[in-house]
This record gives sequence, C-alpha cells and structure tokens, in this order.
Amino acid sequence: MKCHNCKKENSIKDKFCFHCGTSLVEAESDNLIELRPKRKTKRKIKFAFKSLAIVVIVGVISTLSYLLYTSYQSSKGLKAKNAELTKQLKDTDSKLQDTSSQLNDSQDRISQLERQQSANQSQINSLNFSNSMQRSNLGYEQLKNQELQDNINAQRYNWW
Ligand SMILES: [Zn+2]
Repeated sequence: MKCHNCKKENSIKDKFCFHCGTSLVEAESDNLIELRPKRKTKRKIKFAFKSLAIVVIVGVISTLSYLLYTSYQSSKGLKAKNAELTKQLKDTDSKLQDTSSQLNDSQDRISQLERQQSANQSQINSLNFSNSMQRSNLGYEQLKNQELQDNINAQRYNWW
C-alpha cells in the first residue's frame, strides 16, 4: 500500500503510514471515490493530446509530402524544359554546321571558278600572243611575197 502523502510503501494491513502517519484507510477511500474520475480525466487529456499529436504529425507529413511532390513535379518540369532547350540548341547547332558546310562548299566552288577563270585568262593571253605572232609572220610573209612579186615583175620587164 503506497502512502498518498509521502509516496512510501507500507504493509497492506497498516491503517496509518509508518513514515508520516497519514491515514491509509482514508487515502484508499479517497482513491476509490476521487482518484478514479481524476484518472479518467487524465486519460481523456492524454487521449486528446495523443489525438492532437497524431493530427499534427499527419498534417506535417502530408504537408511535407505535398511540398516534396510539388518540388519533384517542378523539377521534373524544369528537367523537361531543359531537355527541350538542349534539343533546340542541338538542332540550331546542326543547322549552323549545315550552313557552315554549305558556305565552305560555295567558297570551294568560287575558288574553283576563280582558278578556272585565271586558267582561261592565261589561255586567252597565250592565244592573243600567238595570234599577234601569226599576224606579224603574216605581215612578214606578205612583205616577202610582195618582194618576190616585184622581182618577178622586174625579171619579166628585163626579159621583154
Ligand atoms: Zn506516509
């Protein structure tokens, strides 16, 4: 039997506390009449606290999971946007490379045409040169021809 005053243990047979002298019979009847409803109230309060704690924990957990979910979703969205932008960048890059290679092709063609043009020009120059040579040869031949004709005419004159 625990004394309700000093909380020390006494024998069940004792009517008064061996340590402080408080009546143990009175205490027992008090326990029977008054402590039971107090215990019930304490239990109710404990239950209410437990329920409140559970509600708070559930609320915190659901809020945290909602926050995690939304951050996950937004990170997913950002990842998707990032992937899309990367793809667009790659497309632009490949287009740029295509354009660059086309430009290189055009430049190659231009330099090829320029080389052909200079080759044609040198051919034209050499043809002009040989043409002028042939013309001067022709003039020389004509001069010679005239000379021969003159000689022939002179010989004919002498003959007659
Ligand atoms: Zn006592």
